[in-house]
Amino acid sequence: MKKLAIVIVVFVVFLSGCHLQSSTNVKQKQNKKAPVMTTEEIKREQQAAKDYFEKMILAVNEHNKEQFLSFQNDANKLFCREQEAWLLGVMQKRKEGWNFDEVIKDINISSPDKGSIELEINMKKQKKKYSNHITYPIIKIDGNWKMDDLPFMKRSDGPIQLYYLPSLKNQAEAVLADVRKIVNVYMEKFPWDPKEVNIKLYDSLEELSASVPWESLYGVSLSLLSLKFLVETNNTDITFGLMKHEVVHTMLAEITNDNAPNFMQEGLAMFISDAITKEPSGEITFNLEGASTERETILLKNIKSFKPISYLNTNYTDGSIDIYSLGYLVTNYLITTFGLDKYLEMLSELKKEDIIENDNENKEKIIFKRAINAMEKTYGPIDKLSKAYAAYYNKKKLELKSNN
Ligand SMILES: [Zn+2]
Repeated sequence: MKKLAIVIVVFVVFLSGCHLQSSTNVKQKQNKKAPVMTTEEIKREQQAAKDYFEKMILAVNEHNKEQFLSFQNDANKLFCREQEAWLLGVMQKRKEGWNFDEVIKDINISSPDKGSIELEINMKKQKKKYSNHITYPIIKIDGNWKMDDLPFMKRSDGPIQLYYLPSLKNQAEAVLADVRKIVNVYMEKFPWDPKEVNIKLYDSLEELSASVPWESLYGVSLSLLSLKFLVETNNTDITFGLMKHEVVHTMLAEITNDNAPNFMQEGLAMFISDAITKEPSGEITFNLEGASTERETILLKNIKSFKPISYLNTNYTDGSIDIYSLGYLVTNYLITTFGLDKYLEMLSELKKEDIIENDNENKEKIIFKRAINAMEKTYGPIDKLSKAYAAYYNKKKLELKSNN
C-alpha cells in the first residue's frame, strides 16, 4: 500500500477535525416498507447481531481470512477484495510492531434485515496512538448478517469507476472530469491501458483511514484494486494533488505487475505528479522540465547523506522518510540523467515478472530484489549507480551552499 505521508503532513492544518457521518441513512430511508419492530425485538436483534459480529472480531485477531470474509457481503466483490486486503493490512501492521485491535462500538437495527455497525479501530505503537471509527451498513442475507461497504453512489467514464458518498455528490462530477484527464495524460506518456480504475471518495479522514487500515491517511492506492481518497469540499487543490499522486501508484502497479517497491512507487508518484499542472482553464498539462526543482532543493537542504539504493528496502512505519525522500531523489536522478524512456525500459523488465500474491509474506523482499535486478540490467551495477546518484546530489548540495 502506498501512502502519502510527507507531502500531506503539510495539509494537516487545513483538514481540521474528523466529521463522522452516519453512512447508513440513505439506505435506511429507502427501506419504507420494512415491517415495524417493537423496541423489545430491536433490542434482542441488536444483542444477537453483536454476539454474531464478535466472531468476526475473533477472526480478525486470529488472522482467519476465510472466517473474516464470511461476515462480508460477498455480492459486493470489490468490497470483499478490499476487506481481504484490509485483513492483510492488519497482519502487516502487527508485524511492524503495532498493537492493533478492533472493537464493536455500536450496532443499530432499523428493520429485520437492515442496520449498521460502528467499529473502532485502535492502533498503538510506542507513543503513537490512533483511534478511528467507521460505520458500515449491515444487511441480513439468508438469515445471516453481513457487513457491506459504505453507501457509495457510482459514476463511470471510460475505464474509471467513481464511487462517492452521497455527501459528495456535488463534487463527484468535477473529480471525475479531473481524474479522467489525469488518466488520459498518463496513458499518453506511459505504456498504460487500464481496463478498470476503481476510485472511492471519502468525506471523513477517520473512515478512510479505518477502511485501509492506516493510522491516518488522505489518499491510498491499493495495488491492482482501488484507490481511495478524501475529498475536501472547500479545497479542490488538495483533492487534485491527491489524485495526480495516487493515480501514478495505480498505474505503476499495473505496468510492473505490482513489482515496484515502495521507494520506486513513492519516488515516481512524486516525480510525475510534480509535472502535472491544472491550468485556470481546467486544462491539464504535463511538463517534466524543471517541475521538480523546488522539491529537490528542499530535500537537499534537509538530507545529510544519500544512502545506497540497496538500503531502501524498508516499510512505511520504520522508513517512510527514506521511501519518500530518497525514493524521490533516486527517481529524479534516473529520469533527469538518463531520460524517461530508459526508465520505462527498466519498468518493462519488471513487467516480465509475475504478480506475487498479497498474502505472500515475502512479497516486499522479492519485489525489492526484482527491482534491483531490473535497475542493474538497465543502468549497470547497483553499487556504482548508488555512488553516482550520491555524487550527483552531493555536488548539488555544495552548489546550493555556495549560492547562499
Ligand atoms: Zn504515495
